[in-house]
Amino acid sequence: MLIEIRNARKKYLMGQRELWALDDVSLEIEHGDFMALKGPSGSGKSTLLNILGLLDSLSQGEHVLDGRSIASLNAAQRSACRSKYLGFIFQNYNLIPELNVYENIEVPLLIAREKKAGYHDKLMQLIEDVGLQDHLQHRPGELSGGQQQRVAVARALVRKPPLVIADEPTANLDSKTGQGIMELMRELNRKYGVTFVFATHDEGISGFMKAIYKMVDGKIVESKRIEAVGRGDAA
Ligand code: ADP
Repeated sequence: MLIEIRNARKKYLMGQRELWALDDVSLEIEHGDFMALKGPSGSGKSTLLNILGLLDSLSQGEHVLDGRSIASLNAAQRSACRSKYLGFIFQNYNLIPELNVYENIEVPLLIAREKKAGYHDKLMQLIEDVGLQDHLQHRPGELSGGQQQRVAVARALVRKPPLVIADEPTANLDSKTGQGIMELMRELNRKYGVTFVFATHDEGISGFMKAIYKMVDGKIVESKRIEAVGRGDAA
């Protein structure tokens, strides 16, 4: 098991009022999973992704990542854990406009102080995986939305984190381009065994998922596993 969340609650204070953005949520994410959180706006999807991404912490309940209880970590350990375990994909891509495709994908490697000699070939392989080998020198402004999201997918995967978190990754794309991005991520999930967790409104992506959790008012009201994790996978 990659992640276990047990009886999780997250409280926000709105003036005097308490708001439970997560209300007794339990879920399990397996190694190699490809999983969506669905539900209306305000149902708690982003809150849960922020918890899974170690960007925020629970008010109550348990969160175990790869056998480690997150509540017991100090700030430096959480940050180290985030760097080791997580990649992120955003709906607006969040690329650096001044950097070209290669350089944008390289950013996490530079931050982690990895040696260029050790990663150049891997980076080029990943650029090929996302189909951008003819666009190495292009800056984000010279790419379509779909191509920009491909850069972001490669950047999220470049250190091969066990878990990639994607908040509405197809929200700014037309449905055909969005499907193409989902197909790409599913292929990379198979090829590298990387686990993906999505938040989405997009009905078109359901067909790609191994598991779907539906949220309403901070609760998981429905969970559906479509495909056993591991079948046809690299891991
Ligand atoms: P979703 O991603 O499904 O749209 P969110 O997780 O963003 O839902 O929000 C869940 C609930 O928590 C909403 O009622 C939202 O207004 C509230 N909320 C989210 N973040 C904050 C915050 N930083 N402070 C106060 N309330 C928040």
